[in-house]
Amino acid sequence: MPKTIHVLSEQLASQIAAGEVVERPSSVVKELVENSLDAGAKTITITIQEGGRKSIQIADDGLGIAAEEIETAFMRHATSKLQTADDLAAIQTLGFRGEALAAISAVSQVTVVSRAQGEPSGTRLTLAGTQVTGRDAVGAPQGTVIAVENLFYNTPARLKFLKSMTTEKRLIDEFVTRYALAYPDVHFRLTHNGRITFQTSGSGSVLDVLVAVYGPETARQLLPIENPHADETAVTDEHHHRIPITVAGYVGPPSLHWANRNQIILFLNGRLIKDTSLTYAVIQAYHTLLPTGRYPLGILFVTLPPTEVDVNVHPAKTEVRFHHSNAVFGAVQKAVRRTLIDTTPIRSMGAWSPPGGAVTPGWSPSSPGWSGELDEHAFIRRDDLPQQEMALHWPPPSLPGNEGDTAVSLPPQPPPQATLAGEKLPIMRVIGQVGAAYIITEGPDGLFLIDQHAAHERILYEQFMAAWEQNQVVSQGLVAGTAVYLSPPQATLLADNLEVMAGLGFQIEPFGPNAFMVRSMPALLAKMDPAQAVAAVVEDLERGDAPLQGKIESKIILRVCKTAAVKAGHTLSNAEMEAMIWQLEACQNPHTCPHGRPTLIYLSVAQLAKQFGRL
Ligand code: ADP
Ligand code: MG
Repeated sequence: MPKTIHVLSEQLASQIAAGEVVERPSSVVKELVENSLDAGAKTITITIQEGGRKSIQIADDGLGIAAEEIETAFMRHATSKLQTADDLAAIQTLGFRGEALAAISAVSQVTVVSRAQGEPSGTRLTLAGTQVTGRDAVGAPQGTVIAVENLFYNTPARLKFLKSMTTEKRLIDEFVTRYALAYPDVHFRLTHNGRITFQTSGSGSVLDVLVAVYGPETARQLLPIENPHADETAVTDEHHHRIPITVAGYVGPPSLHWANRNQIILFLNGRLIKDTSLTYAVIQAYHTLLPTGRYPLGILFVTLPPTEVDVNVHPAKTEVRFHHSNAVFGAVQKAVRRTLIDTTPIRSMGAWSPPGGAVTPGWSPSSPGWSGELDEHAFIRRDDLPQQEMALHWPPPSLPGNEGDTAVSLPPQPPPQATLAGEKLPIMRVIGQVGAAYIITEGPDGLFLIDQHAAHERILYEQFMAAWEQNQVVSQGLVAGTAVYLSPPQATLLADNLEVMAGLGFQIEPFGPNAFMVRSMPALLAKMDPAQAVAAVVEDLERGDAPLQGKIESKIILRVCKTAAVKAGHTLSNAEMEAMIWQLEACQNPHTCPHGRPTLIYLSVAQLAKQFGRL
């Protein structure tokens, strides 16, 4: 039976972490959705106009609010979820502070229609800036509809802090999709400016929600964290009492990785939380399995007794304090690591035999292993190169630096007979390839080791930038379009940038909810996998705030070139290596990749002589 809504005693109210909960539209959505979930709703419909600035409406079929309690619900510290200070130590509901409705109604115009279970009719209440402006009885289905309009209309300073509509919408998407994952038995529907952007069936299957959030391609690859035997994960506290911690959810295989930690999603007892330490526990579990600077996907549902955790730390209730944080850290890390080990063949660095050693039959650096495609770190880490001992110099002392920005046009043919003067790079002769990652060339007075990925990235980048700056990006149609599935926040980002993408030679059309069809690609990158290209771009757009227009194109170009560039692990023919060297010689800044890492290392004949003890 629902408990009545009452205003907390001053003493109890003072024990609650104080502070503002309504920072932006997404925080309104968060508080209202949490209320609907606390009310046991099975259907939650979220309708947003203009990123939530204009209006946010949340409708649910939960318990409803009793007619005589509806005004109380909007008072500060009014809640039905907390009775005594003891309850505070073991909170089982998402809300408990009794502040959200009061805070929301203080900065917006609110209309609520609610009919409680067992009541003959509903009540409609309107409020503006906490003042009740109207009340009447209305016919309504059981449940609650709260409409929040003109958020921050009376606090212009806060209005100014809101980011673009796209950003606010993305934050709402992110939040709703996450809660949908934790409550698969609830039917969520999110509509933005009249368009349904996300919905779940409420079937109870997390997998169904994963498909709705990540698309079928990604969802198919996710690995369930199997429910372990209790004794395997038993953790004990300092008094040797067993703490029952369970960790469930899904993690991505090491072949799926992102540029940021955004895809590590943590729920504690059904509450979305932010926790640096547990996030790190997930990352740690992938230790050595991911390229550096890349982050995994993990959707983790941690359950532990409510007395084991304090959620009364921060007003937004997303930060929690564990009484035995090490135990929780260990449980999460173990659960993820075990899932990875059980389901993925781990490739150790040692599987790569040194020159002269036998290579596992059938194994080649480019054959897709656990991680699909090896990246440039797979063979030798740059810091492992014996720079000191070998006295490898970079940039080569005999070469001109990056100064003197004389434009060099891109020759389709090898440049004519070599003269060193005025050239950015000397003319080089290809000797061969080592480690399927580096090209060896001979120059005028020594040898060069060229990182094939970095060099190719530089070449593509300069060619693409030149074409774009002259408005000459050639687009090449794909015989059959390629479908790309994205998460709703990513889909929004891409949808907002379709024109920019078109300007860069990517013709992309919406293709159902959160899906797109790639119709054509920049001809320069014709060999590239369209889905991979789009995914890489979206990922970059996702990182941080949208860059200034004008810069966004070069950012996209940078990213697709990185994705398109030939990887380490790719054996090149002599002709391919020669073509690459000619093109690198033609670059304006051949010494570094567009991210600033060196493309080549120089070892002079004199240095060789010294190493061999001839000098
Ligand atoms: P809290 O959730 O911390 O209790 P709120 O200000 O968010 O505080 O809500 C105040 C009270 O209003 C809740 O305790 C609950 O009893 C009632 N309430 C709010 N939203 C709903 C809803 N969607 N369905 C039923 N009751 C609700
Ligand atoms: Mg609440």
